[in-house]
Amino acid sequence: MISEREASKYPFLKEAASLLEHLEIDIENLTDQRYRPILDRGEERVIQAIRYGVVGGGLKDDLAEFLSFPIAVMLVSMTRDPFLERRYALAEAVRARRLLESEDEGRIAEIARGEFRWRIKVQRREIEDTIYSFELHFVDYLRNSSSFREDKWRLINRILTEGYVLLTKAEAVRLLQVEVEELIRRLSSRRVESNMPEQIMERLGRIKRTLDESRSSIGDSALPSEVIHGAFPPCITHSYRTLTAGGRLSHIERFTLSSFLLNIGMEPERIVQLFVSASDFDEGLTRYQIEHISGLRGSRTRYTPPNCMTMRTHGICHNPDSLCGKVKHPLSYYRRRASELRMSPKARKDR
Ligand code: SF4
Repeated sequence: MISEREASKYPFLKEAASLLEHLEIDIENLTDQRYRPILDRGEERVIQAIRYGVVGGGLKDDLAEFLSFPIAVMLVSMTRDPFLERRYALAEAVRARRLLESEDEGRIAEIARGEFRWRIKVQRREIEDTIYSFELHFVDYLRNSSSFREDKWRLINRILTEGYVLLTKAEAVRLLQVEVEELIRRLSSRRVESNMPEQIMERLGRIKRTLDESRSSIGDSALPSEVIHGAFPPCITHSYRTLTAGGRLSHIERFTLSSFLLNIGMEPERIVQLFVSASDFDEGLTRYQIEHISGLRGSRTRYTPPNCMTMRTHGICHNPDSLCGKVKHPLSYYRRRASELRMSPKARKDR
């Protein structure tokens, strides 16, 4: 049987589910005062996912921390909100990745094989200053890397040996994050009993309110005060919403969004945090790219987003409106709209 410590770290494992069955906890008992910290933590997991895009912290009591996970999954499921299901799954998967990064190779391979049936071997090699720790069958590799946009993930750019792809430890863990995210998304999209005790329904109400506030203001709350979210051109709004909903952006969309936000005054670190929502988030790479675009690295040049004609050529000029017909650049759109908003009290109220 899995230890309570391991179950608290990786509560999505099948062994952890067996532990839960073994405990035979009745939903009616959850309203008992003894279980209150577990319900609080379950609710907190979901709120953290909504607000920060990652689940952090945790209870000192391993069993309570573990039990808070099925509570959180149940609460997410009860909202019946696909946006929240995706955002929560990603937030838990990022948490799992951070924990897996500190595991040894044997434990990582054990989880990958046992939970996700990966054909993976622990095999250490050093090639051109890179330490590879694993060999993963190319089918398992492709299944989990297909949504990644960076060139380094393309099979053609990988080292293969007899059908197995060499992976560093960080890469193996990054691919496992994809599996964990999909698993949790499936768990939280299952329909559960909606007739729950009042203490559970109150928590559900708080989660829905936080989600509603967040949905309309997640941009505003993530932006510095000088940035006027309501003045974003439609193309940028499209990328921004896709990103904060946990969707994936193409390379050119990432570049456009990052350079746009940098040029209207957002700090690079804030932009990195924004990308936490991305389902193919790689913190080190994202920080490097954003610092490069901002001129903190490389040529020391701050890049600007492409003009509207280039955006159209790349098929990322989404939902142009009447103001778009009067501008040639997304930053010109922003300046004009921001100026209109500053002059119009009604528009300011609506933004
Ligand atoms: S016309 Fe320009 S500003 Fe407007 S949506 Fe297209 S690319 Fe963006």
